[in-house]
Amino acid sequence: MIFKSNSKKINISIIGVGYVGTVTGACFAKLGNNVIMVDIDKEKTDKINQGISPIYEKDLDDILANNKDRIRADTSYSFAIKNSDATFVCVGTPLKKDNNIDLSFIETATTAIGRCLKEKDTWHLVVIKSTVLPGTAENFILSLLEKHSGKKAGNEFGLASNPEFLREGIAVKDFLEPDRIVIGFYDDKSRDVLIELYKDFPCPIVKTTLSVAEMIKYVSNCFLATKISFTNEIGNICKKLDIDTDEVFKGVGLDHRINPAFFKSGLGFGGSCFSKDVRALITKAKDIGENAKILQSVIDVNEKQPLKMIELLEKHMSLEGKKIGILGLAFKPNTDDIRDSRAITVVDTLIKNGAKVVAYDPKAMENFKKIFSQIEYVSSAEEVLDTDAVLVATGWEEFEDLDFTDKVVIDGRRIERAEKEAAKYEGVCW
Ligand code: NAD
Repeated sequence: MIFKSNSKKINISIIGVGYVGTVTGACFAKLGNNVIMVDIDKEKTDKINQGISPIYEKDLDDILANNKDRIRADTSYSFAIKNSDATFVCVGTPLKKDNNIDLSFIETATTAIGRCLKEKDTWHLVVIKSTVLPGTAENFILSLLEKHSGKKAGNEFGLASNPEFLREGIAVKDFLEPDRIVIGFYDDKSRDVLIELYKDFPCPIVKTTLSVAEMIKYVSNCFLATKISFTNEIGNICKKLDIDTDEVFKGVGLDHRINPAFFKSGLGFGGSCFSKDVRALITKAKDIGENAKILQSVIDVNEKQPLKMIELLEKHMSLEGKKIGILGLAFKPNTDDIRDSRAITVVDTLIKNGAKVVAYDPKAMENFKKIFSQIEYVSSAEEVLDTDAVLVATGWEEFEDLDFTDKVVIDGRRIERAEKEAAKYEGVCW
């Protein structure tokens, strides 16, 4: 942490302790606040009470263990709401099959919070950290809270939107050292409580309406996803022209209007957020009579990108009966999250084409087994090398130490040694 927190401490409850909720709760406790974490999954709350993180994220176990006296986890809302001043809602907002956002977890959580507010005598702040489309807090959440609490927003309880921008893999650092904090507020008191809570964070604080705050989150994710698909489209062109994509983007990024970050071509974006948020905004746009053409192309480019790996492999061998090694299953390094991982499309296509898959990931194998129980999982990266070809799907640092001599490698993450040593080497975009 790069600052000393002198802000007034408050009692905080967190609803939903997944990737965002656990990091949020742990970091607020690290800053000196008392935190009660609530989840419907008792396995997760039990772990937190033992000082163990329910998800893998750098530094999280240490923070939970070192701040055990300020953290308590429970499956009951009533204790949490009664004993806190502000509740951060961090439940999932997945995409439904029709590409509309699924608000059922938000609805259940908000209903339960409302019922607890009914029993409470003092003012309480409800903060929405989950990613929700603009208008959701004001038009959906507010009325649910009022209905179930029998109280008026603004007077008897407060409502704010405080979207989260953390990146898995470096989530603790991102939470504690954000580029900006966005506070959308319904009432001034809610704004002031959050400003005080975040007082010592050395970054700009955007104070705005609930809907603007919600939209800032979507537009940020849509822009980043666009940058990745753009980079991959250019990367595919550079590959065919035998031009080094990374060198091109180094030159491009020096323009201060453009910025060098997020110009890494490869297999495309995965994870729980980009695809879901871009699709949700496309659907919202359609509902209001707008055709989000650029955003649709972002998704189309991204869907095809992992298949480039298979195309390149097929240049070197037919897949039927071959033993193909996969290095990396998580959607990015330093996480155990496999949601929308590029490795899913790659493994699925290999199996459909008759290949036998051998896979390794330092953190994500247990999660991957829930989708693909039929492939072989090995306990070290070295064992993956004993195959007809090796596909690098996630850029874990330890893959840089492997000896790729004599191997056929199709690389989605530009592993330096593989590029230098492999007998046959193909980079996806280079
Ligand atoms: P997650 O699926 O990891 O965690 C959600 C948690 O909520 C789960 O533990 C689940 O058991 C719990 N839950 C569901 N219903 C509940 C209920 N009624 N009461 C209590 N707990 C309940 O999700 P996540 O990745 O942490 O994302 C949460 C939100 O934050 C989403 O809206 C997401 O879009 C947004 N977000 C995620 C990230 C990220 O990198 N994961 C970053 C920024 C924003």
